[in-house]
This record gives sequence, C-alpha cells and structure tokens, in this order.
Amino acid sequence: MIDEILKRLKREYPEQETALKHANPFELLVATILSAQTTDVHVNKVTEKLFRKYKNINDYACAPLEKFLEDIRSVNFYKNKGKNIRGAAGMIVERFNSRVPGTMEELITLPGVARKTANIVLSNAFGINEGIAVDTHVRRLSNRLGLTENQDPVKIEQDLMKITPKKEWSNLSHLLIYHGRSVCNAKKPRHDICVLHDLCPSNAI
Ligand code: SF4
Repeated sequence: MIDEILKRLKREYPEQETALKHANPFELLVATILSAQTTDVHVNKVTEKLFRKYKNINDYACAPLEKFLEDIRSVNFYKNKGKNIRGAAGMIVERFNSRVPGTMEELITLPGVARKTANIVLSNAFGINEGIAVDTHVRRLSNRLGLTENQDPVKIEQDLMKITPKKEWSNLSHLLIYHGRSVCNAKKPRHDICVLHDLCPSNAI
C-alpha cells in the first residue's frame, strides 16, 4: 500500500522538497527550529530578513541574545527558539569547526534539535535518508491511513521506516506534509477530493 500512496502523492505534489527557504545547511537548521508550531509561510517571511542580516554562523553565535530575540519576535515560542539557535550556532563553531554536522548522532547534540529536525536537515541539506521526519501532519496522516497505531513520533517513525523503502523516507515525509496541508486537514479532511480515498480506512470520519 505504501508504494501506491507514494505513487499517487508524487503525482499530486511533484515538488517533494521542504517549503522552508534556505541557502545552506545552517539556514535550514535555523528555519526548521523556527518552524515548530509556526507555518512555513510565516517562517519564510521572518527568515527572509534574518538571513540578510545574519550572513554566517558566527553572526548568530556572536549576536547579543536580546537583539536576536527581537529579530524573531513574531514567531511562536521565540524565546526558547532564539536561545536554541544561538546555542546551536555556538556549539557548531566550537565543536564542529563552524560546519553543520552531517550525522544524526552529532545533530541531536545541538540545542533544540531532536530527530525530526535532524531528519529534515540530513535529507534536505545532505541528501541523507537517516529516518523519517514526523511532524504533526505526518503523525495525523499516518494514523488516518492506518500506517501506524502509535501516537508517539519516535514510534511512528519506526513503524513508517519498516514499511517504506529507505530511498523514499524523506519523500514520504514531504508528501504527507503537503497532503496534510492541502487536503487531509486536521479539522476538515476533504475526503471527496482525496487521491487516497479508496485506500484510506478513515475516508468517512
Ligand atoms: S481519505 Fe480522508 S482521511 Fe484519508 S487521507 Fe484522504 S482526506 Fe485524509
């Protein structure tokens, strides 16, 4: 069934890339940290100015915290996110020679970076399929489509990894996110126009 889901969703959403704008791995890390509980559209608006002002990791690591927080103030939970971004920048400068590390083990040592964020950075910035990023859309759709019975993101990721070919791990995450945003919404899933209608056990909820 997963092959059919992937085939149909790829036809619907040929983009298959993160919607977060970025020009390098660190900008993607910043955008991904900012994106928790915030729409990608809003994050892109904020980062458009942010990336013009802060050109490299050192700029983030050295920025006075209060000033940096002002620059991301319109984002949900900006205080925590700002501290994490500054902390991650400092750690990357000190421990990783100013380069975003390219392994799961190293990435999750950075402040504010758990598996979801690390998976997004690994797949989009380094082309590495280490796992499947499970955000709120991936969690909801995986349950509705009967791909998992778990609610915990780490367990959902394990269930999805078992049934999905490794080369498709990152695609699956992007595709479920696109479909969750445009058709399988949290409150009003649009079963009538859904390309997965006949495959989905929840097509009448
Ligand atoms: S049929 Fe409905 S619940 Fe199932 S994936 Fe489509 S929109 Fe979501």
